[in-house]
Amino acid sequence: SEKMLSVQNLHVAFTTFGGEVQAVRGVTFDLDKGETLAIVGESGCGKSVTANAIMGLIPEPAGKIKAGQVIFQEHDMTKLNKTQLRKIQGVDISMIFQDPMTALNPTLKIGEQLIEGVRTHYKLSKLDAKKKAIDMLELVGIPSAEERLNQYPHQFSGGMRQRIVIAIALICEPKLLIADEPTTALDVTIQAQILELFEEIQEKTGVSIILITHDLGVVAKIADRIAVMYAGRIIEIGLKREIFYHPQHPYTKGLLNSVPRLDLKDEELEPIEGTPPDLFSPPSGCSFTARCPFAMEVCDLVYPTDTHLTNDHIVNCWLQDERAIQMQG
Ligand code: SF4
Ligand code: MG
Repeated sequence: SEKMLSVQNLHVAFTTFGGEVQAVRGVTFDLDKGETLAIVGESGCGKSVTANAIMGLIPEPAGKIKAGQVIFQEHDMTKLNKTQLRKIQGVDISMIFQDPMTALNPTLKIGEQLIEGVRTHYKLSKLDAKKKAIDMLELVGIPSAEERLNQYPHQFSGGMRQRIVIAIALICEPKLLIADEPTTALDVTIQAQILELFEEIQEKTGVSIILITHDLGVVAKIADRIAVMYAGRIIEIGLKREIFYHPQHPYTKGLLNSVPRLDLKDEELEPIEGTPPDLFSPPSGCSFTARCPFAMEVCDLVYPTDTHLTNDHIVNCWLQDERAIQMQG
């Protein structure tokens, strides 16, 4: 399979009044053409920061890429200047956010918003751009597309608005689509429809997808692989079935035991007792030590490096590392 993206040892920090926050601390993964990788974790784990770094959207000077590479189509996104980035953002890499209302301009007809994107980057006539806009609305399942081009965002339901946002993200035919909590604001039925839409689009266009979510239930359907993030690191990554049926990290197991229930709101979910460490002065050892029922002496002292369980399945936990057993002696 063809590689679409390679993130290598990415470190991102933010300067705040309280000091420097180490938001992402050595993230590494690859993504193939036509593949869907889900990045899962609690809020503040660094998943959105990772997405923004891939897109070239870390706001300087408060945010800074401290180390690492993001290789996309032979470019290192971390080394490009603003002009070079603008040729890629929204064109070869597109991003979809949680709230469709903030992504749409309430004062512009949706046809204008679709056409604006594609005409900025390709030299299309107005007529060709309009045809493309209609094609896109049909692709995302909006009926009577031609008439609806003249309507404003408020004339659509929440689910329809998110479909329009997806159409805008796709109109320049990106190779990589990053969706950050794309269904969180939607009700469960609409969520399922939007996830199905991602699958359909991927089948038709071959786009690679990174799906960022706090909800393992969301990824169950469409992910090929899952990366679990905790305190700025990927602590386990593998094929979907490896993560769902053979999770090895205690944190991943905890997440799986708490797949959201319909009778609870997101805020009420607490997957695992305790809270993540603050990332002003991250621990040198495993970040999960304070919450982990299996913590050993070594866990607090030294970070557990990658243990390869299969070709695709990698975990960072001393329980899986033979050297820990020797050290415990
Ligand atoms: Fe628990 Fe230690 Fe594994 Fe961390 S390294 S998850 S503390 S057993
Ligand atoms: Mg986020």
